[in-house]
Amino acid sequence: MSRRLRAEVSLTESQRLVRRSIRAICDEYDHEYWREKSRNEEYPHEFVDTLAEKGWMGALIPDAYGGADLGTEETVVMMEEIAACGGGFAAAQAVHGGIYNSVPIVEYGSEELKNELLPAVARGETQVQAFGLTEPNAGSESTAISTFAERVEGNESGSEGERAAGDDERDGNGADRDLPTATDEGSGYVVNGSKIWTSRVDVSDYLLLVARTTPREAVEKHTRGISMFLVDLDDAREQGALETSRIRKSASEFVHSYQLFFEDLWLPESALVGEEGEGFYQVLDGLNEERLVIAAECVGLGELAIERAVQYANEREVFGRPIGENQAIQHPLAKAYARVQAAKTVTYEAARADVSGREAGARANTAKYLAAEAAFEAADAAVQTHGGFGVATEYDVERYFREARLTRLVPITQELALNYLGENVLGLPRSY
Ligand SMILES: Cc1cc2nc3c(=O)[nH]c(=O)nc-3n(C[C@H](O)[C@H](O)[C@H](O)COP(=O)(O)OP(=O)(O)OC[C@H]3O[C@@H](n4cnc5c(N)ncnc54)[C@H](O)[C@@H]3O)c2cc1C
Repeated sequence: MSRRLRAEVSLTESQRLVRRSIRAICDEYDHEYWREKSRNEEYPHEFVDTLAEKGWMGALIPDAYGGADLGTEETVVMMEEIAACGGGFAAAQAVHGGIYNSVPIVEYGSEELKNELLPAVARGETQVQAFGLTEPNAGSESTAISTFAERVEGNESGSEGERAAGDDERDGNGADRDLPTATDEGSGYVVNGSKIWTSRVDVSDYLLLVARTTPREAVEKHTRGISMFLVDLDDAREQGALETSRIRKSASEFVHSYQLFFEDLWLPESALVGEEGEGFYQVLDGLNEERLVIAAECVGLGELAIERAVQYANEREVFGRPIGENQAIQHPLAKAYARVQAAKTVTYEAARADVSGREAGARANTAKYLAAEAAFEAADAAVQTHGGFGVATEYDVERYFREARLTRLVPITQELALNYLGENVLGLPRSY
């Protein structure tokens, strides 16, 4: 399937411009580039640096802070194109966090933080690639997080010998590190706990951390008492308060994910993003847009898988004719195409409509669900089309298949997307 056979939707002039620009960048990175990154489990620095140099990491940052100020529609095009051009879902994931994590900072960060950080992010000099919400005991049920940021009040006089709240506990843990205290740093927070599956920590300067500031038992609604922080990762390592352990995984292998352990991490008051206790709502705020962008990445992966399969089906001859002549090869690819087309239409229409509110949530969850299923079907058909070579790494489709499987799990599972529709569209009882 050549590009002119890609699933089609009508694009605005600015979307067409985004598509052309991203395609020109992606064309510099061929299939061998992505194969090598996958083989070596190595982050695609060259690709990401090129995007950054051309200003694309600032896609969602307003003009006033040096960004490109794109909307959801353009970002959907951008991420679909990155996935479709050869890197697949993993290539999109390599930059996804860097682009999306600026959104809560734009919405909720202080003016000082925005002026300091966002222009550098837009220029690609500073990376805010990592976002830490999930914990070993809190995945789908994200309000069950227990990583705790305890507020400590500074001593204005700064008199020597004053100790911060929480120091006794630290001594009790046997920590003999010389921790910065509230006395010498002003008011702030001390963070303890663990995160899991935090991606791109190795290529990020900052981590957007979601932690409890009020215990779950002490809030009326579980969604309250959660706060968002911007953690300087170098500083956390220098404090000796952050340990990371890489998780080996079978998909998106060149985008590394980690388990993080925080022990008495000191954060100054200025690390708080937005309002204390309202962090969960800040996370929810950009969720519909992000889900649509994920859907677009799935669409791109599906298109890529179909493209490679059609190419092979035309080239490979068995019984003296191209295998693509067999309907057993054609129909699964045609069905996958139809499903990718449907998912793409839903995704683009949702991106064009209002992206806030319950109806938008329904559209975003529908798009994510359909696009992940369509990507999976396309990748599966691509493997089957390749026969035994379907599992040979040099043909790439086995990588697309592993990634497509992953799209059914992240950033929310398909079941949780369906739960949203069951409850909020069909009016069925909440299941959790
Ligand atoms: C490669 C990768 C990268 C990731 N990157 C990040 C990241 O950068 N930052 C971050 O914070 N997180 C990240 N995650 C975490 C991801 O968001 C979670 O894995 C996801 O939300 C699911 O949570 P869980 O794995 O704990 O599954 P669980 O919540 O334990 O669910 C297990 C199964 O039970 C099902 N289930 C649970 N409750 C219900 C219910 N009520 N109804 C129906 N089914 C239910 C789920 O759908 C799933 O199939 C990443 C995950 C992966 C795999």
